[in-house]
Amino acid sequence: MAVVLEEKIEAIYRQVIARNPGEGEFHQAVKEVLETLGPVLVKYPEFAHQKIIQRVCEPERQIIFRVPWQDDKGEVHINRGFRVEFNSAIGPYKGGLRFHPSVYLGIIKFLGFEQLFKNALTGMPIGGGKGGSDFDPKGKSDNEIMRFCQSFMTELYRHLGEYTDVPAGDIGVGGRELGFLFGQYKRITNRYESGVLTGKGIGWGGSLVRKEATGYGAVYFVREMLKVRKNSVEGKNCVVSGSGNVAIYTMEKLQQLGAKVVACSDSNGIIVHEKGIDLDLVKRLKEVERRRIGDYVSYHKDAKYVQGGNIWEVPCQIAMPSATQNEINGKDAATLVKNGCIAVGEGANMPTTPEGVKVFLDAKIAYGPGKAANAGGVATSALEMQQNASRDSWTFEFTERKLDDIMTRIHATTYETAEEFGVSGNYVAGANVLSFIKVAQAMVPLGLI
Ligand code: NDP
Repeated sequence: MAVVLEEKIEAIYRQVIARNPGEGEFHQAVKEVLETLGPVLVKYPEFAHQKIIQRVCEPERQIIFRVPWQDDKGEVHINRGFRVEFNSAIGPYKGGLRFHPSVYLGIIKFLGFEQLFKNALTGMPIGGGKGGSDFDPKGKSDNEIMRFCQSFMTELYRHLGEYTDVPAGDIGVGGRELGFLFGQYKRITNRYESGVLTGKGIGWGGSLVRKEATGYGAVYFVREMLKVRKNSVEGKNCVVSGSGNVAIYTMEKLQQLGAKVVACSDSNGIIVHEKGIDLDLVKRLKEVERRRIGDYVSYHKDAKYVQGGNIWEVPCQIAMPSATQNEINGKDAATLVKNGCIAVGEGANMPTTPEGVKVFLDAKIAYGPGKAANAGGVATSALEMQQNASRDSWTFEFTERKLDDIMTRIHATTYETAEEFGVSGNYVAGANVLSFIKVAQAMVPLGLI
């Protein structure tokens, strides 16, 4: 029985590869989910009859468009824009926009696929989608960013709406970009439709805690994993990759809970500061002055900058990858475990390769996959949508308490699902199985759509 089932799932996976050639990241994300679904089909045979797996692997809609814009010298540039509307069984499509030169359809599809299941885990009424562009915001002036965002939204707006599709930020898209995007949406539609974008500024429809939410939430998830093991975050040495939105607020919450962050990074190199990272300085360099992390050492002579360094070689007890996909390979994972790492909480999406995941699972350390651990960002986006719908604004404390409750519940339910399906302590299986069941149970009653 199990062998026949495995063959059936393997055949679905082969079909996904054939239908989506050259999209390695998407194949990787699909494989990881499919590998855990055998026991679900045994318990719910109707999901197989309804071809739910095949249907969730095929996005409901994929939009690709031209984004022409002019730089400050008047030169014309052409970028490509994407929005993949993956699944709206549970609610309107919801998921961020990524602006990075590496973006192509396969990246957006992997992110959209992950997003669908992550959103289901939050228990909020949001479906899954993702978008972005191969535009590189690095080194561009504010005016160039504005012109690009206006051109991008001039095409995308027709696909959006608070009941249709609600984007947010991701790599390269923060408060500044969301401001330009919202401004152009408002101008074209002549509607102040706050619920069409999340991650907005506080003065124009945003929610307190949204900026902090992904990082804070990931640390709450690690706190919960360690609680099960009668341990805590307090007093631990931590390493956090990246120095963007997720990394900064991961470091902030780790420090608030009494941990010491000894290293962070950007795509050029790593900072190691044994005394503990000076977060106010990182915020100033990255959020205000938009400089490189290497500049940190001009302010702290006892810190070390290693250009092109590998952050996973810095010994730590807690590792929180918060930069990008596939940043921890099998060798890095083995190094972390050998150096005494007891917990990994993924702020980034799919930051660990399949070989790395296997190392963490085999070593039985507390391993929180991004799908569950970084769901705090989108959950708080859904809280922002709630506030927009009721024209209300909640306090920081109230919103943070809600975020904490949501992360605690995601931890508890993924943990319990892993127990129920006989893979105790495996949050990868717990998160995949639980979220797939939620999506499938929403799809079946809606008929063949
Ligand atoms: P930011 O753009 O704010 O920061 C990204 C950070 O990661 C920067 O330090 C950047 O360095 C580094 N980075 C990006 N790409 C690479 C790369 N190819 N190699 C090495 N370093 C890289 O993005 P976010 O903090 O918003 O996103 C980080 C991760 O978290 C992503 O995986 C994203 O999908 C995920 N995530 C984000 C959420 C959010 O709410 N923002 C929600 C859930 C997940 P540099 O400046 O040098 O490029």
